[in-house]
Amino acid sequence: MNIDQAMTVLKDKGYKHTDKRADMLKLFADQKRYLSAKDVLESLQDEYPGLSFDTIYRNLSLFSDLNILEATELEGEKRFRFSCATSEHHHHLICLDCGKTKHIHSCPMDSLDTMYPDFEVTGHKFEIYGKCEECRS
Ligand SMILES: [Zn+2]
Ligand SMILES: [Zn+2]
Ligand SMILES: [Zn+2]
Repeated sequence: MNIDQAMTVLKDKGYKHTDKRADMLKLFADQKRYLSAKDVLESLQDEYPGLSFDTIYRNLSLFSDLNILEATELEGEKRFRFSCATSEHHHHLICLDCGKTKHIHSCPMDSLDTMYPDFEVTGHKFEIYGKCEECRS
């Protein structure tokens, strides 16, 4: 997902193009990592002095409903990042310091789903948390 694709999704769903929305998406595109609503507020409040936490949170929820952003909860706080471009099934290593992610292409379900044949699995979540190379050095 990039800004142009995100804008197209919004337009197709009948949502207004606003500078605020565009700037929020630009922030996610530039940062390429998980950001909290607070991070977004801190980055945009100089440009939009009246911006409320509520407005940001509403837009972030909208973006994630439209699959523009993906959300997860890290250390008790909801964080968002641009959805991955690949449709291939994968999981993420997530750095808790900087919020950057790396793809993992092996899936733990591959070895688990044969262990519970009576349970029909319809979905799963799997994330690995830690510190990335940059944050460790
Ligand atoms: Zn990914
Ligand atoms: Zn890091
Ligand atoms: Zn998986």
